[in-house]
Amino acid sequence: MCGIVGYNGNRLVVPILVQSLKKLEYRGYDSAGLAVFNEKKKIEIKKSSGRISALEEKVKEIKYGNCGIGHTRWATHGEPTEVNAHPHFSDDKSVAVVHNGIIENFSELKTKLEKNGYKFYSQTDTEVLTKLIHYYWKKYGKPMDALARIQLRAIGSYAICVMFNTEPDVLYCVKKDNPMVIGINGKESFVASDASAIAQYTNCVYYLDNHEMARVRKGEIEFYTIDQEPIKKQIKVLDITNQNSDKGDYAHYMLKEIYEQPTIQKQLINEYTKNNSVNFSKLGIEFSEYSEIEEIHIIGCGSAYHVGLCAKPVIESVAKIKTQVHIASEFRYQAPIVSKNSLVIAISQSGETADTIACVEYAKENGLKTLGVVNCIGSTMTQKVDKCIYTNAGQEIAVATTKAYTAQLLIMYLFTIMLAKGKGTITAQTEKNELIELSQISQKMKIELENVEQLKHFASLKYNQKEVFFLGRGIDYASGEEGSLKLKEISYIHSECFAAGEMKHGTISLVQPDTLIIGITTQKNTTAKTLGNLIEVKSRGACVVCISDVIDEQIKKASNYIILIPKTNEKYSPLLSVIPMQLLAYYIALNKGEDIDKPRNLAKSVTVE
Ligand code: GLU
Repeated sequence: MCGIVGYNGNRLVVPILVQSLKKLEYRGYDSAGLAVFNEKKKIEIKKSSGRISALEEKVKEIKYGNCGIGHTRWATHGEPTEVNAHPHFSDDKSVAVVHNGIIENFSELKTKLEKNGYKFYSQTDTEVLTKLIHYYWKKYGKPMDALARIQLRAIGSYAICVMFNTEPDVLYCVKKDNPMVIGINGKESFVASDASAIAQYTNCVYYLDNHEMARVRKGEIEFYTIDQEPIKKQIKVLDITNQNSDKGDYAHYMLKEIYEQPTIQKQLINEYTKNNSVNFSKLGIEFSEYSEIEEIHIIGCGSAYHVGLCAKPVIESVAKIKTQVHIASEFRYQAPIVSKNSLVIAISQSGETADTIACVEYAKENGLKTLGVVNCIGSTMTQKVDKCIYTNAGQEIAVATTKAYTAQLLIMYLFTIMLAKGKGTITAQTEKNELIELSQISQKMKIELENVEQLKHFASLKYNQKEVFFLGRGIDYASGEEGSLKLKEISYIHSECFAAGEMKHGTISLVQPDTLIIGITTQKNTTAKTLGNLIEVKSRGACVVCISDVIDEQIKKASNYIILIPKTNEKYSPLLSVIPMQLLAYYIALNKGEDIDKPRNLAKSVTVE
């Protein structure tokens, strides 16, 4: 989603802004723009709808300026046009603003400003904010006065970076509920909504907290409270390794990331186990601190929610702790009843998912323990939770998650073993056996990824499908939810997953000759039942694909195609059953010629509600 960058130093600003914006490109956006101080110390703005490459073309001749701001917009208010793109200007071109977030009371503020003679040209809330800054600047005299004042008037979320023409070597920043980092390297300063945008230039960063303001000069940064009292902030040195953002020989980032999974699984086992035992001590996490936990609430959105669905039965059966899984955007408004001895586990690839962060805040306000499972180092969520386990999957660029999803799954399984130790429900020998099983996943994934011809062929036959249903029970149902999401995200084929037993209670009316049904059968106690449901749809003409870890007569009878996956302890099967579903989604989208890494309307990290 939306991205902010800024630079203030001695190098030419435009290439740095463009390079930094490119690092945020994967997050999804629909227009881009930048503002720089030109040779006459005037602010110059260039914008374009569409890709950053279009903006790059427009700005390639600019060979001046050492201070500026840039933005990738993910439209919330108004179409993705050039006029609506950021930066926005005040009428007299003295103030330029880039903004991430939403100003909820923008209409009321707009009316007030119109009464004061301001004109509006775009449909955005950001233009209102820009003019509000201008209004207070003119009224109270100093940029900081204006930035302090708007925080009392603007309701909603914002991270903003502002240029004032009276100070051509300064950038101003302020934020509420949207991330903002300020980096420093010698005589250079950098601003970004996500540290990955500026990691190529520095790993020394400050994180702005809500309602803090920053005055950013070349290599010198001052921080202030909303009352304009100076504050001292701690610099953080980020360990942003494993950030290889090169596609290599792969046609798409998604395919590359799918193929990275065996390596990541292996690395995570090495990282978080020691002497046949789970070990998170380098993150300050010990099993003893969770021995009193009575309930677990897992919070996530999209694929992270599916990780929770897969993990719940494992936590309940191995650690014997009652577990509930919540969609973050639902949890936050339901005032859920959560017992005092609960642990809230928030799962997020980006660590910036607005709804999940709000749930962490709710948990903290209610005195609950919180744990984050996060991929992006230094992201907002990592700062808010009590403890955080990093999934260390490296930067994930394709919008549809693959490697971060399986990394989250593995972390949840490892953490379950740790919880079980705290609860005394697992012996050292069982722990060892579980870890042996999990350490073999990497090799088994590799085997799956070496045998893709059948899937490729199948995708070439079925890519014109209008709709697809996924069926499974228990853990297989949870897996199917992820398979279905992958398919709809990148191929735009309508797809849903159902608990197989529910099929007869309505959905079966949608089954017609040639409807594609993907069944998942890896769980001994439910496979016969699911096969029964698959036979029911097959006998109504559906084409049935069965993802299974065995091939026998029953499965052959119930399906038209069988995708054989390696065997593992069945509670860990989601790690292996998801691989053919990821590949199927990929090859179907490829056959359809879709923009696989940047599917329409989607953003990589969803920083608005
Ligand atoms: N609400 C603003 C707009 O629609 C900012 C969107 C964003 O965060 O990119 O322009």
